[in-house]
Amino acid sequence: MVHLNQAVLNEIAKVSEVANYLWQREWAERNGGNISVDLTDIFGAFDDDLAQYSHLPLTMVGQDSFPAEAAGHIFYVKGTGQRIRELREPDKAGCVLRIDDQAQGYHLLWGGNQNPQFAPTSEFISHVEIILAKQQSGSADRCVVHTHPLELITLSHHPRYAHDSQAYCYACWQMLPEVRAFVPRGIGIVPYCMPGSKMMADGTRDQLMQHDVAVWEKHGAVATGVDALCAFDFIDVANKGAKLFLKCLASGFEPEGVTPEDMQRLKETFHL
Ligand SMILES: [Zn+2]
Repeated sequence: MVHLNQAVLNEIAKVSEVANYLWQREWAERNGGNISVDLTDIFGAFDDDLAQYSHLPLTMVGQDSFPAEAAGHIFYVKGTGQRIRELREPDKAGCVLRIDDQAQGYHLLWGGNQNPQFAPTSEFISHVEIILAKQQSGSADRCVVHTHPLELITLSHHPRYAHDSQAYCYACWQMLPEVRAFVPRGIGIVPYCMPGSKMMADGTRDQLMQHDVAVWEKHGAVATGVDALCAFDFIDVANKGAKLFLKCLASGFEPEGVTPEDMQRLKETFHL
């Protein structure tokens, strides 16, 4: 296995920490959810002979290559079928891989439970596309988290909010000033579609270019951040808004909510 420097190990430790939060919150049943981190910038010089590492072609459903500009990128990623809670041992439930120079496969550099056939999550191409789009736009985000936050999903079943990103986002924002402040670009909804489909990948990337959180209708949420903790924070804060909103409805009343004028003042005061 390749030697990992301390900066890389720190990012992987954050993935383990977040994975534990997701499991504790019941947001990551069985193999649900996944996390990827682009380590390319912090990996250091890489001039190993790649022939010593297991090389695997992309076999993920419906797609046969990464975007061309992903060639040479190095990621830590959860393995397909692996449990989020097992990321407490990041070398077993995940791996560090390098996308090959043709962007059609990858070399396994580290982890992967020492299985030479270890494959990343089926959402990995989508994660790579999201991170590349972010990088091209000048964003420092290097991590993608997908999970199943209970209240964000519940609200995505509500007929009045499920198909209206603006109404959905406002329902969460109005519950607590911090939601408006720490999810400043809001929440965008990706209409229900097949997990792993191109439609879902494109929709998610497009929503995350405009918003801090993409909610997959009747499925879950995706966010990016400079690291796993920051990506988690966006989903955590957004979910707090949804949870408070649903608690009000469950208590039998529509919340008054922070007024649009007060939210506008927050926006101006904190330059959101
Ligand atoms: Zn999912």
